[in-house]
Amino acid sequence: MRIAIIDKDRCQPRKCTYECQRFCPKVRTGDETVIIGNDRKPVISEELCVGCGICIKKCPFDAIMIIQLSEELRERETHRYGANGFALYGLPIPQEGRVTGILGQNGIGKTTAIRILAGDLKPNLGGENPPWDEIISHYRGSELQEYMRRISRGEIRVAQKPQHIDLIASMGGDVHELFPDEREVNELASRLDIDHILDRRVADLSGGELQRVAIAMCISKDADFYFFDEITPYLDIHQRIKAAKLIREISKESTVVIVEHDLAILDLLADAVHIAYGAPGGYGVIAHPKGVRVGINEYLRGFLPEENIRIRPEEIKFEVHAPRAQKEIFVLAQFDGFMKRYPEFTLDIEGGEVRRGEVMGIVGPNAIGKTTFAKILAGLIKPDVGSIDLDLKISYKPQYIKRERDIRVDKFLRSITERFGSSYYNTEIVRPLQLERLLDQNMADLSGGELQRVAIAACLSREADLYILDEPSAHLDVEQRALATKMIRRFAENNDVSVMIVDHDIYMIDLLSDRLMVFEGEPSVKGNALGPFEMREGMNCFLKKVEITFRRDEESKRPRVNKLGSKLDREQKAKGEYYYQEL
Ligand code: ADP
Ligand code: ADP
Ligand code: SF4
Repeated sequence: MRIAIIDKDRCQPRKCTYECQRFCPKVRTGDETVIIGNDRKPVISEELCVGCGICIKKCPFDAIMIIQLSEELRERETHRYGANGFALYGLPIPQEGRVTGILGQNGIGKTTAIRILAGDLKPNLGGENPPWDEIISHYRGSELQEYMRRISRGEIRVAQKPQHIDLIASMGGDVHELFPDEREVNELASRLDIDHILDRRVADLSGGELQRVAIAMCISKDADFYFFDEITPYLDIHQRIKAAKLIREISKESTVVIVEHDLAILDLLADAVHIAYGAPGGYGVIAHPKGVRVGINEYLRGFLPEENIRIRPEEIKFEVHAPRAQKEIFVLAQFDGFMKRYPEFTLDIEGGEVRRGEVMGIVGPNAIGKTTFAKILAGLIKPDVGSIDLDLKISYKPQYIKRERDIRVDKFLRSITERFGSSYYNTEIVRPLQLERLLDQNMADLSGGELQRVAIAACLSREADLYILDEPSAHLDVEQRALATKMIRRFAENNDVSVMIVDHDIYMIDLLSDRLMVFEGEPSVKGNALGPFEMREGMNCFLKKVEITFRRDEESKRPRVNKLGSKLDREQKAKGEYYYQEL
């Protein structure tokens, strides 16, 4: 089976000469393999196309994909966004009393699948608006049949937590106005530590506060089906775990489906996962459900044995031991202690040093002064006691990235660096961050994950000695996190520059950092920094504070959160071994 996908946003027939049609060998022999539709855009016949791939290369806007698929998928077609549109195969099976996760790249159809389950989008099975009877009988013999019947009758009450929490920020008003039933929200608010912000204005909330308000809004609804599209962005590890526990609780009496890219949290939260694979923007297949441990392991390995499908050429691997020998150390700069006082918050930092070619991880709870520290190093704000004059050029990527700029991505990056367009730039920045297809898009139209990758590129494009990236993992999928990790490490080594990464994704911190700085104190009141430590000491120091231990999965060696108070948790705490195994 072959499908042809035309990205309608990229296709610009007014600026081309219909190369797709002119060069198609089948058209040349008189077939109607490519015709021009009413919207002046081409329509490629999947029956007549022989898959030569010439149009893919000839289209000046990279708008075409021709994909060969296994014949078995034909039966599993769930939805097609029109002729030559994205195709979704399979569907997740929501299960009452359980949390079902969907794990897959961005653009692979996860939201489409959810919209179908939520009754937002009627599936067309690849045809033209089939009646519900046909849809229901298509799922005959599967758990989805009854579910579809209930959707068709409008019997499913749905609550959703959207990925884009800025939509809530734009609603205005005070936080408590978002919750019609105040009585019920009190317990929820205290479980999520947002009780003190209920009287604040929604527009004044930080990203982490907004995320928790969004989670609470979804949970507070009386529904049968709860869907959470990413819960972790902007939350610290404590907040992530608390939110995960709460969601597990509501799943006991309802059905929960989540999309989550922080694998440590997905592992805690879900009972089963559906791996979604395919070609982003082209097609997506929702695989059959697997237990969460096995599913995540297969995903990391990049191979699904039951389906006999490789979804990625390489495995994503973890170190069991902390990196041992330090590289030769060149100190790039040293700084003396300093303090910063806001009316309600004090940051107290002892002196430290920045090493050349090193990636330093920075961890700690939210509102403990990490961003303030980064901004002071970057010279964006001044300390009140002590001074900082690093004589270093610093490039800084903030945690929250504003999206309102009305400028094309390539123009934006070109305005930052003269290297834009060079083969160096393409190899080091554009390709590993998968920016090729974003370059001709407008910054204002990018999704969260796309904007994040452009912001990482922009930060690394500036000439600097020290690069500070605040939460680069937010909105990136697992693949993109792994690619960004590799590329940031290589960037530091190849250019002999230093990088500091503030992040809450423990997997990303583990894969990325040479050393670790740990912030502690009392959130929103005072903060100070410990370290920098070697990785093992640093992880122990950090995780001891949050009282979380990790064991290793025997097969993939990936870290898994131990249940609080379990035998392993107690043993590891007694040994003081919270993350890496003893050397
Ligand atoms: P994910 O949630 O995995 O990021 P989505 O389900 O949002 O993926 O989107 C999958 C693909 O479907 C996208 O590449 C997009 O191009 C396409 N798509 C989504 N919504 C529509 C729509 N309303 N019309 C046409 N194509 C769409
Ligand atoms: P983190 O990055 O660890 O989440 P931040 O450095 O952003 O923490 O903030 C630490 C504390 O300082 C928070 O309580 C925050 O409200 C407060 N704070 C940050 N910037 C300002 C400011 N410009 N004015 C007053 N308080 C601030
Ligand atoms: Fe032109 Fe490419 Fe669109 Fe064909 S697919 S009409 S070549 S822009």
